[in-house]
Amino acid sequence: MTIHDVRCDGCGSFLAGPAAGVRFVFHPGVPDLRDDSGLTCSACWDRLTGHLVLAATGRCAACGAPASRGESLHLRSFTDHQSWRLCASDAVGFLNSLRTVQPKLDLATFRFPGTPGGA
Ligand SMILES: [Zn+2]
Ligand SMILES: [Zn+2]
Repeated sequence: MTIHDVRCDGCGSFLAGPAAGVRFVFHPGVPDLRDDSGLTCSACWDRLTGHLVLAATGRCAACGAPASRGESLHLRSFTDHQSWRLCASDAVGFLNSLRTVQPKLDLATFRFPGTPGGA
């Protein structure tokens, strides 16, 4: 596990340490590509995930669209066992709201790596 800086991924404010914020884990349907270095302040975490619901399996947690295992972003806080799934559009929206995601993703060209041959 590596935490490169202890600034919020959302607003950039300094955190007193990883324990002062919310650590989160995500992967794009391919567990090998798991990124467990996410960290936001609790205000940003609420802003980013407050609208998400643990929807029925296979549904996007933001909009309810079908989101299959390999074609969704799997996101959870470090201490949570259940992960949200985000469809491509909501995944791009989420990732682009993180400071550390550079360059920003383009929904038009975004593909989940688990998608056979791209969609
Ligand atoms: Zn923040
Ligand atoms: Zn969605």
